[in-house]
Amino acid sequence: MTIPILYIVIPCYNEEKVLAVTAPMFRDKLMSLVEAGKVAEWSRVLFVNDGSRDGTWDFIQSLSKDDSVFEGLSLSRNQGHQNALLAGLMEAKDRCDVTISMDCDGQDDPDAMDQMLEEYQNGAEIVYGVRNKRTSDSFFKRFTAESYYKLLNKMGGEVVYNHADYRLVSSRVLQEFANFEEVNIFLRGMFPLVGFKSTCVYYERRERLAGESRYPLAKMMALAFDGITSLSIRPIRFITGCGAFFALVSMILIIYVLVSFFSGNTVPGWSSNLISVCLIGGIQLISLGVIGEYIGKIYLETKHRPRYIIEKRTYEGEERT
Ligand code: UDP
Ligand code: MG
Repeated sequence: MTIPILYIVIPCYNEEKVLAVTAPMFRDKLMSLVEAGKVAEWSRVLFVNDGSRDGTWDFIQSLSKDDSVFEGLSLSRNQGHQNALLAGLMEAKDRCDVTISMDCDGQDDPDAMDQMLEEYQNGAEIVYGVRNKRTSDSFFKRFTAESYYKLLNKMGGEVVYNHADYRLVSSRVLQEFANFEEVNIFLRGMFPLVGFKSTCVYYERRERLAGESRYPLAKMMALAFDGITSLSIRPIRFITGCGAFFALVSMILIIYVLVSFFSGNTVPGWSSNLISVCLIGGIQLISLGVIGEYIGKIYLETKHRPRYIIEKRTYEGEERT
């Protein structure tokens, strides 16, 4: 059994408060894994500063100066959680054997890493961290999140239920993942598409240790929508189905109208007329909206813009291992 080099990849956006609490936690965990002989001593904690406006980057720099276990890279602007995480994973893939991604707010239980690494040693290339309870989330978040996972799976997106972005991924998988070039990314739905042996590990998700959620409702809804539209074209098919159904219904209606007309009992049907116009108008607008969403995504993809730009690294100029 070879001892793997582990990189713990952690995106941070305006998290100076919570990092002061969680950074020592991450270091202690990594050290205990090194001592237990589960990971190699060149393992690192890699922070990705996602264009924070507070002192997050300064803090990461001072951490890495004091302790070589910490490394950091800084994006040129805020690119969002998914892109920041991707930047870290792509950076780590050539420097280690296995990565574990997690949030920096201490909500993901670091002790689940032991089991993740065990599964890795047993041959799993991807290990999904799954929350066994959502008691630390508000009722609203729990309800919307759980309904969303169900909807996403119905839409054909292969997403592990109650798995966020706490996940072990081997560098082997990341090398393949580097070929996924889309700009609309939803990592938890994309890793299952890479294949390889995967499994789940269960953990309890805790409360944020400090600061506030960086995922306000609008950002969460954007992520939810991206999740569906980047994994599935079923909404478009659904619209086509609706179109066919309503076309059929209107055919029957036309026959009915013609029969009524010729039998001489037509009544000026103002209300029914108006209702049908509104109904069809509404359905058409929704349909156009959904189609527009996909066209917008195609537009973004054709531009081939970089998904993130790395501005600085704490290990710049050093010999790469
Ligand atoms: N995050 C990020 N960029 C953003 C928003 C969030 O890198 O634009 C990071 C954030 O610092 C945290 C993780 O993504 O490490 C998850 O965010 P948060 O804990 O606020 O989300 P929640 O747990 O409330 O869903
Ligand atoms: Mg959080």
